[in-house]
Amino acid sequence: MPLNRPLLIAGNWKMNPTLRADAVALATAVRDGVGPESTVHVAVCPPAVYLEAVDAVLENSPIGLGAQNMHWEPSGAYTGELAGAMLIDVGCTHVILGHSERRHGLGETDEQINQKLRAALAVGLIPIVCLGERLAEREAGRTEQILETQLNGSLAGLEPERAAGVVLAYEPVWAIGTGKVASPDQAQAAHAFIRRWLAERFGAAIASRVIVQYGGSVKPDNAAGLLEQPDIDGALVGGASLNAGDFLGIVQAARAVSAAGKRH
Ligand code: PEP
Repeated sequence: MPLNRPLLIAGNWKMNPTLRADAVALATAVRDGVGPESTVHVAVCPPAVYLEAVDAVLENSPIGLGAQNMHWEPSGAYTGELAGAMLIDVGCTHVILGHSERRHGLGETDEQINQKLRAALAVGLIPIVCLGERLAEREAGRTEQILETQLNGSLAGLEPERAAGVVLAYEPVWAIGTGKVASPDQAQAAHAFIRRWLAERFGAAIASRVIVQYGGSVKPDNAAGLLEQPDIDGALVGGASLNAGDFLGIVQAARAVSAAGKRH
């Protein structure tokens, strides 16, 4: 039976590229490669200073525009931060929240991610909430416990009617930027756990609509094996999103999986 959710391929450019012209060129190549319409949903998440320029490139294309972070307050004395309304104003549709580089590199907590989630939903941004265990946690058999803690904390108080509009990204920290991709079976097991948690919390109907992406060293040659898994609904792509050919190769793999009839 086809699944009731589209695939979403999102590129997280992180702190790259370092020239506006290169960001515009990358966005242009992705736009041209994706074409005027797409059954597979696609989004790019450039550095905040290039959002407006990339938005201009993506005008009239089906590609979404995501920020990589935001603050939970609507405005005010928060030096260096960006408010959700600002992101909407420059054309954003999505925002990545709780990426492991912010959780583990900058000490971002589930509570902060939860506040950001509420603020993102309040202004109409689609949040992409990242979750995932570290290598030592996986090796200690604590993957599900870590995911459960992150889900309980970052989605605390989320109303069921809003849950279907949230995207989750399962990103095992040991697979991010390391070239060590989770096997399709490892990833599917974690995604199935997340789906069960969603069903317990929000009911099966809503859980079946939540997009849960996989992230961690996704490349054109390993994407199909991951995306064919029943609970993997797309990819959050770091390194490979900086090369238009590689990113488009992943989009192409998603289209092939979608066309094979497993999705609609
Ligand atoms: C990421 O940063 O979200 C990510 C998955 O990176 P990479 O694809 O480079 O592992």
